Amino acid sequence: MFELLSRFKKATPTCEMAEAMPLTQAIGYIRKAEKYSDRAKLYLHREAISKQLGIIGNDLSQACVLDMGQREAGLLLSENAVGQDVHLRTREKILANGYELKMENIATVALISDLNNAISRSGNDEKASDVKPLIDEILHDAILRSATDIHLICREKTAEFKFCIFDELIAYRFYEPSVCEQIAGYLFTVMADARSRSQNSFSLESNSLSYVILYKWRDKGFKLRVKQLKAANGWDVVIRLLPLGSYAEKKKTFADLGFEASQIEQLNEIVACKIGIMAITGPTGSGKSSTLKAALDGDPNKKRKKRYSIEDPVEYEIEDMTQISIQRDDHKESVSSFSGALKDLLRAAPKDIMVGEIRDADTARLTADAVLTGHKIFTTLHTNSAMGFYGRMNRLGIDRHTLADKQFVAAVSAQRLIAVLCEHCRKPAKENLSSAQQTILTERFGLKLDGIYVRHHDGCECCEGGVVSQTVVAEIIQPDDEMRELILNGRDNEAEKHWRRKRKARFDEPDMTGKTVLEHALYKASQGLVDTQEIARIFGPLHLHEVIEGTS
Ligand SMILES: [Zn+2]
Ligand SMILES: [Zn+2]
Repeated sequence: MFELLSRFKKATPTCEMAEAMPLTQAIGYIRKAEKYSDRAKLYLHREAISKQLGIIGNDLSQACVLDMGQREAGLLLSENAVGQDVHLRTREKILANGYELKMENIATVALISDLNNAISRSGNDEKASDVKPLIDEILHDAILRSATDIHLICREKTAEFKFCIFDELIAYRFYEPSVCEQIAGYLFTVMADARSRSQNSFSLESNSLSYVILYKWRDKGFKLRVKQLKAANGWDVVIRLLPLGSYAEKKKTFADLGFEASQIEQLNEIVACKIGIMAITGPTGSGKSSTLKAALDGDPNKKRKKRYSIEDPVEYEIEDMTQISIQRDDHKESVSSFSGALKDLLRAAPKDIMVGEIRDADTARLTADAVLTGHKIFTTLHTNSAMGFYGRMNRLGIDRHTLADKQFVAAVSAQRLIAVLCEHCRKPAKENLSSAQQTILTERFGLKLDGIYVRHHDGCECCEGGVVSQTVVAEIIQPDDEMRELILNGRDNEAEKHWRRKRKARFDEPDMTGKTVLEHALYKASQGLVDTQEIARIFGPLHLHEVIEGTS
């Protein structure tokens, strides 16, 4: 039953055409496209024909309709039938039945007859799409468990599916490698959006293959961004699940993301500020784009100004914003196309610009120019601390005078995502942390152990391994005159210390002024929300964290 699927490896590109292309135009394409004589070269998974899609007229050597799944049909025609009545009427019938005409090619009479015979022989029990229910099951489980990615790791003798949930890989299921090959083939050939494929034919030997699948389940729509990679001894497929439509557009505010009241006040002030950079830093997967989206959605003046974004690529729709998507494939190419797009955009008289990420000198320079000519820029960078923004921009060629300019930076922030403990199964810190760990929390940070909990890694029926979600921990710095003076002289560490001395609250109090990302996490630990061991895992041992006394 998997015989047909195994042919994916030999698949070749076909002539794909838009559903509504007029016949006269189509004929031109058909004549130029590949002509088929070999059944093995056909790019299809199922040689079944739906009952209502028969051929008009009874000549089974002139035309053959192939059901390609997902209400897509392929039409093969003999040389003589192209443009004739049988062609026109078959075409109309396919479209009238709500099928999309995905393929229209010339084939030999022998092949057409052969296929029509196979179609009339095949009963309902012979379907090559047997992996479809399996794929659905895996996707549904992943969605139900809020997985962000599905990993398929296929090696010579074993193949395993894992889910990435709350940033941790969790074992899911094992399958035979041969089944996984069929799954990978089915994802690419049948489910992928044809235009999104990085190459036309499926192969497990490709070094890297990428495509997008639009997937619907219950009332939820998803964009699945799929990447297939060749490994030394096998291959991997990584499927990123991106919620679409109303499900994704459920707007998240700063509070939803996990910012504290004092930070939200700061953020609103920064968003309302008309010029300067708002830079959000953090490693991949630290929730930077969600914060950026919340900032852009939350701008009270968004309807009154022209806003643009350049993203790599656009993942979520943002209201009142012209979003430009740059597709990254080859690193070099994307760097030049990114800064190229930014250059074009600056001529379009924008007010606010969201620059998805600054990671090369050209983009840094263009961004700086835009700020200095009076624009507001929202952007992200890969640095570990908020103050790391200055060193990174300086290394990308932005001089210290620009960086220390009063108009240049509205704010720099850094953030991480940290696991939120399940209230049902978390365990009290008193009985579950070593006395050394307890002493650090009480002596060094002045926390009370009573409200602090640790994660129960086995979890319960309400959570995934003791975790229910992720929350943002962040530091947000609006530089003052003294800090700018230090930044001008390259003394970024001292500038950071100056900022940290503004701390006016204890570590178990909600005011975040002068508190670092780690210290925000400590506050959340004091509220029983996160595990202090998790904080140490992200930021390093807690006894090494330097506590700076506030002066205010
Ligand atoms: Zn429970
Ligand atoms: Zn639990």
